[in-house]
Amino acid sequence: MEEEEKRTVETAFVRVDRENPDAATMALAGEIIRQGGLVAFPTETVYGLGGDALNPDASRKIYAAKGRPSDNPLIVHIADMEALAPIAAEVPEAARRLAAAFWPGPLTMIFPKTDLVPTATSGGLSTVAVRMPNHPVALALIRASGGYIAAPSANASGRPSPTRAEHVREDLNGRIDMILDGGPVEIGLESTIVDFTEDVPMVLRPGFVNLQMLRDVLGEVRTDPAILDANAGKNLRPRAPGMRYRHYAPKAPLLIVEGPAERVTERINCLAAEDVARGLSVGIIAAAETAGLYPVGRVRDIGSRSTDEEIARHLFEVLRDFDEEGVDKIYSEAFDTPRLGMAIMNRLLRAAGHRVLEV
Ligand code: AMP
Ligand code: MG
Repeated sequence: MEEEEKRTVETAFVRVDRENPDAATMALAGEIIRQGGLVAFPTETVYGLGGDALNPDASRKIYAAKGRPSDNPLIVHIADMEALAPIAAEVPEAARRLAAAFWPGPLTMIFPKTDLVPTATSGGLSTVAVRMPNHPVALALIRASGGYIAAPSANASGRPSPTRAEHVREDLNGRIDMILDGGPVEIGLESTIVDFTEDVPMVLRPGFVNLQMLRDVLGEVRTDPAILDANAGKNLRPRAPGMRYRHYAPKAPLLIVEGPAERVTERINCLAAEDVARGLSVGIIAAAETAGLYPVGRVRDIGSRSTDEEIARHLFEVLRDFDEEGVDKIYSEAFDTPRLGMAIMNRLLRAAGHRVLEV
């Protein structure tokens, strides 16, 4: 009830051509943000919910629209390198090399912030997270909006991140001014976050830019132990505050079954058969290689293990589809693939509340 009452804004839903966004549409969207309003827009990672990053009221509106705790900082999106110095007090040489290699792209870097960035945007922190997205619509919107867009993922807090404009509409219709529909995203997982405020760069969230790619440019890189472990650093102040919150969660309980492929299929089939016998409906998330081996349940082929970009692109969508279908339980294979396994498992583990069955 309370949730519905907050859906009071008229949300414009506008299609834009990814390669060639209509100038009038982008000017209008930019004007909404300049006036303190909110516009959801496509990026190459997931859809973002954008507001003026330099306007504390706009940031507060973002938190309210998402139902997100206000100590969970927002990423500031820029469209060119000149925009970095005014918001980042200190940019180490290593970060410049990383920017040269991966910007525009699915990489966020954390720096000490300047006074230009309101604490409402930085979640009360003295640091700022910055990204330059690789998407013509996102870049055009940033330029039309004055250069700095604060944008978390455009989902209701706790739900899987949106990889299509329809997902944004499900979660935020009536709560924001405009949704720009640029079609399905390419990557499907949020950006890699690297913290440059300590001596050695530290990965706080894995993404499409994986450890190997970071090491190739930076040499030494550390990873936050909390990325794959629910208990690591529980009593410490989390470095990426968002990592503390329940995230990406489907409505049905999700269990990850991990082990040798044959044993995994066997165990999931066993569990699913028991559930179905009890009258429950079951969703199963499987790789292309094994999807044909599950006789009961709604089986979703999430993509091939040999092209794990496909698995990354489909993960959030599959979780949302199971919500839509109203399944009672979800079982998933583990996806410890070489290139994106860390990023995929980081999201899947959190969606499962770290419930893993080793077989
Ligand atoms: P989202 O855009 O929804 O994927 O969330 C952005 C995430 O970026 C937050 O949940 C934090 O984990 C991280 N983040 C943003 N700003 C900072 C910062 N200044 N320090 C550490 N982590 C940050
Ligand atoms: Mg998010």
